[in-house]
Amino acid sequence: MTTWVSEIAAALEAFTDFLYPPACVLCGTPGQFVCDACMAAIPLIEPPYCPTCGYPGAAHPSACSQCRRFPLTSLDAICSAAMFDEGALRTLIHKFKYEYMRILGKSLAPLLAACYTINQMNAKIIVPVPLHKSRQKFRGYNQSAVLAKTLSGIIGVPVDTTTLFRHRKTKTQMELNATDRQANVAGAFKCASDALAGKSVLLIDDVCTTGATLDACASALKKSGVASVSALTLGRAA
Ligand SMILES: [Zn+2]
Ligand SMILES: [Zn+2]
Repeated sequence: MTTWVSEIAAALEAFTDFLYPPACVLCGTPGQFVCDACMAAIPLIEPPYCPTCGYPGAAHPSACSQCRRFPLTSLDAICSAAMFDEGALRTLIHKFKYEYMRILGKSLAPLLAACYTINQMNAKIIVPVPLHKSRQKFRGYNQSAVLAKTLSGIIGVPVDTTTLFRHRKTKTQMELNATDRQANVAGAFKCASDALAGKSVLLIDDVCTTGATLDACASALKKSGVASVSALTLGRAA
């Protein structure tokens, strides 16, 4: 998005807040789109969790059922803030992605920042998982890019939204089983240049299920010379 477009969007957002003061989308308390109490009630994933894939339960990849079922080929590690179950996080991500509540990115990004800090992650650049341009046009925004930009403002690591892109349209991963998910996204991403070569990249997505999409992104990044790729997601599917 060009600067003047984001400035107009920010001004419109402020004006809308003035006309319709925010209330918590979960409990209705006035003041914020997600109130502090509802945010604090989202249970963060606590140790022990796998140092490779971030799934709770095993403190070592050799004992991790997820690493056995869905081994990562290019991605170095995944961290997720909270489990993606039937709770508040699922409601928030659904509203953020499918009900066009882009504003919720501001409430959700601090969860990513907390996870980044707790896990002492150390990236040189943040890269959101790209949408195919047709899907981005339909939704009007890439939810992962909204999260990445807000996270960038909190942790002070720059964002790159132009190098990695989705060159092939893929089916929604939700409809597919694990094997089909991998085939669906294999080779779907490319780098437009080697601008990220030698860097440590932090990939951002809303939810991680099998890790297939993140791994496919990492494969494209590493082909263009990226040194290491870790991923950070809000939700982790059970
Ligand atoms: Zn609330
Ligand atoms: Zn694991």
